[in-house]
Amino acid sequence: MKHTCPHCGEKTISPIKKAFAGNPKAKGTVCPNCGKRSTNELKSAIFHNIINAIALVFCVYAYVNLIAMETAIYMAISIVGAFVITHLVDAFFFKLVPAIRLDFD
Ligand SMILES: [Zn+2]
Repeated sequence: MKHTCPHCGEKTISPIKKAFAGNPKAKGTVCPNCGKRSTNELKSAIFHNIINAIALVFCVYAYVNLIAMETAIYMAISIVGAFVITHLVDAFFFKLVPAIRLDFD
């Protein structure tokens, strides 16, 4: 199931491309049909911030409460986990919007 390009209305953006299209401040992904850029909507960026904040809290908790080896493992899990969760959610949820930045063309 591909996502609809906000420029031409065709279903051209794959979930993988959308997962890495980034937030409205990013360069986004290029539509193979019309060649214009689009990014994930602002709600996606807010979701990223929330998940990253939780991961940061988890990192601090691990740092304060666990012994060295466990701390490293739990920090890695929270950082990788936050990355995987945010990109997976971007792949299947939230809308694509036209990219704001024009300095990549
Ligand atoms: Zn398009």
